[in-house]
Amino acid sequence: MTAGALIYEGKAKKIFTTAHADHVLQYFKDDATAFNAQKRGTIAEKGIINNKVSECLFRLLEQQGVPTHFVERKSDREMLTKKVAIVPVEVVVRNVVAGSLAKRLGLKEGEAIRPPIVEWYYKNDALGDPLIADEHVRLLKLATPEQLAEIKRLALKVDEILQPFFADRRMILVDFKLEFGLHNGRLILADEISPDTCRFWDAGTKESMDKDRFRKDLGRIEEAYQEVLKRVCG
Ligand code: C5P
Repeated sequence: MTAGALIYEGKAKKIFTTAHADHVLQYFKDDATAFNAQKRGTIAEKGIINNKVSECLFRLLEQQGVPTHFVERKSDREMLTKKVAIVPVEVVVRNVVAGSLAKRLGLKEGEAIRPPIVEWYYKNDALGDPLIADEHVRLLKLATPEQLAEIKRLALKVDEILQPFFADRRMILVDFKLEFGLHNGRLILADEISPDTCRFWDAGTKESMDKDRFRKDLGRIEEAYQEVLKRVCG
């Protein structure tokens, strides 16, 4: 598909205009960053895998009544999406203690979290995406309290749909990050859902099948991403 002008370039994706004013094209790169871009690298075919995994998960969520920005996958690395105004809040849902939660609160990795928790992070690279409370979202005017309540409802609905979906594929959905956007005044799920933005553990071995393999230099990164694609879309 012919891409128009580059609107935005992030760490893992580029966004282009298209001939249709309401649609943009997401291009998925192989570039990988971690720890607020202090660690950089590439993961072979990551862009292709994340594009396809996101497609499968967005289709599933749409079928189950979660509105998403997904329109159509155009090629291996390109996805056509609705043009949204991204809410600058990264929404993290956690089912199992891991990552920054374990570190921040001194909790043991692997403990189940029941019911799941939802956290907000201010999407701001210069500040290192800090954890924020509802009151900070209001103070910074990132979203209204009503919008935040809707985002939380949708994030928990996504978790309710995805947890059993991954369990059926012998995977534990440990945690994940979502981004939402406004489209004609309505909040819809945007960005991507992939091994870059989720933690998945193999249900049997408890081995990481996601970007933690890159963050922690665990090796066999490409194989893990390919395995996620196989189990999710295969
Ligand atoms: O690092 P932390 O434990 O807070 O990450 C929680 C979840 O959010 C992980 O699945 C991680 O991959 C994802 N995340 C992300 N982008 C960020 C921060 C976290 O996709 N900027």
